[in-house]
Amino acid sequence: MLRLWLSLLSGISTFLPVLAVHAYAPVLADAHSFANPSVFRVQHLDIDIAVDFVRQQLHGDVELHIQRITQTSSLAHTLILDTRDLQVHKVDRLDNNRWTPTIFSLGEAHPILGTPLSIPVLPNTQKVRIRYETSPDATGLQWLQPEQTAGKQHPFLYSQAQAIHARSFLPLQDSPQVRVTYKATIRTPSTVRAVMSANNTPAAPRNGIYTFAMPQPIPSYLIALAVGDLHFKAMGSRTGVYAELPYLEAATKEFEDTEKMLEVTETIFGPYAWDRYDILILPPSFPFGGMENPRLSFITPTIIAKDKSLVSLIAHELAHSWSGNLVTNASWNDLWLNEGFTTYLTYRIMELVYGKERWAMERVLGQQSLMSNRKSLAPSALSLVLKLDGHDPDDAFNEVPYEQGALFLFDLERQLGRPIFDNFLHQYFKHYRFKSLSSAEFFVYVQDTLGKKYPAKIDLQRVKKWLYSHQLPSDLPLVRSEAFTRIDATRNQFINQAISSEQLITITASWTVHEWLHFLNNMPAQLNLSHLKTLDQYFHLSETTNNEIAHSWLLLAIRHQFSPAFSRLKSYLLTIGRRKLIKPLYQELMGYPEGKKMAQEIYLEARPGYHYITQRTLDAIVRPAHK
Ligand SMILES: [Zn+2]
Repeated sequence: MLRLWLSLLSGISTFLPVLAVHAYAPVLADAHSFANPSVFRVQHLDIDIAVDFVRQQLHGDVELHIQRITQTSSLAHTLILDTRDLQVHKVDRLDNNRWTPTIFSLGEAHPILGTPLSIPVLPNTQKVRIRYETSPDATGLQWLQPEQTAGKQHPFLYSQAQAIHARSFLPLQDSPQVRVTYKATIRTPSTVRAVMSANNTPAAPRNGIYTFAMPQPIPSYLIALAVGDLHFKAMGSRTGVYAELPYLEAATKEFEDTEKMLEVTETIFGPYAWDRYDILILPPSFPFGGMENPRLSFITPTIIAKDKSLVSLIAHELAHSWSGNLVTNASWNDLWLNEGFTTYLTYRIMELVYGKERWAMERVLGQQSLMSNRKSLAPSALSLVLKLDGHDPDDAFNEVPYEQGALFLFDLERQLGRPIFDNFLHQYFKHYRFKSLSSAEFFVYVQDTLGKKYPAKIDLQRVKKWLYSHQLPSDLPLVRSEAFTRIDATRNQFINQAISSEQLITITASWTVHEWLHFLNNMPAQLNLSHLKTLDQYFHLSETTNNEIAHSWLLLAIRHQFSPAFSRLKSYLLTIGRRKLIKPLYQELMGYPEGKKMAQEIYLEARPGYHYITQRTLDAIVRPAHK
């Protein structure tokens, strides 16, 4: 998913035949799943569920097609699945083509992992069918009232399965090492439309019964569903937008370069494996920038800026079609394999589509964000390879797997030269296509390929340090932006009152969003209120429609207790649920008594509209006494 290269201050044509896909790699430990995929593999799901907006529950059946991997294990009599807060009504088993009811047992609930569901199976069991319903508090689902949507007429539901929330709406082997294909029938009120991370059919009649097929095998965290007053508009031959009507035109315009992004990525990294690439615009409460659900990325509306300034997020989610969705981290300890590669690819796509100058600015913002974020992290979170046993994997989504992972790959590119590195990436995506791998396997692959072919160019010890050390090398492949050097000079003049407001207006007239962000994000800790007044008076920053600039401005305003910006601050916190944009604002408010009071008052009102993941993060900041 995308977290965020811009935050400086906080701390899917071709139907692929299902080949080679179920040739399993040896199962590696996954501390975040109860499942036993070394004994049984779930290969396919047939989902038939109803969406009940009144009770805020999904209910129905899921059939799991299972394959026995070993006969010898003492565990070969029990299929263990992951669940969280599911009510399981009934389990049937298909043995020798005959369905029979079977007993089952739910284990003890674990605060992070949920509850294991154990189902006894026979040597000839082919499928199990589970009748269940979700809890209204399912951590992977957000139910929105009509007034929380853009259109205000219809309710909205969306799922967010990464990292381990799929188990809160489907009983399954919830590990990134297990890939499944799926078919689904989703039953909804006939006023809304369902879409999934599968083959969506925009022309399907709005009749309350929607069917889907996902023929390519995907890990559980990529199973996704959304239901709302959704409409479709094509952008290119393989790309389009699903959105509520108030967003549809603006989003289609904003993201019109998506088809081009898809084409340039294919030319370097190999063919796109997922048929179509569509974008779903979610309501603003979505906790992330985007989620790379295959064939249908889920995207926050907060990046519709009307000037394409924030579209690197689309490049990021699209890049996941190779890094993450096609080649997947074996466990959440290896998250950098998904996010570091994707961040690297994002920069490459942005360079190809928007040019070197923007590429340099975005890289510098990413570097600054990483360095700032590293200061607030525990040493154990500073290496690419993590040890998340006992921790919620949602906590691993900071800048280290993203920006530090990308820096490592830029370091490899520097050692080898771009043509060799591009060829390596192309081969890597081909080799691990529809597979999961660990960081240790990645190292062996690098050793066997680059290490053997280019021993004089690649320093394998350095590669190992990048993976496992908490320290960064002293000679990082950092980028400088000339445009930003000019901004630094202007900022100094502004702070020292060496230029008039009129001169500042002239200088800033050609600034891009990135230049504004660099200008605001690097202000000194102490500014005079007169500086803030000037910025607001001449540039109307409290009213900016760009949510990233608003974020940077509001952070400055809180830091200096600049009250004219506080009514925008309140409306910002009440309407946006994207964690990256609002967490730093709450953190800053909590730093002084009046701010703390304001944070608590706003949070009380805003919390019901936030997603579970955002609530969990903010509860720890705004009301630590309650948790
Ligand atoms: Zn991502």
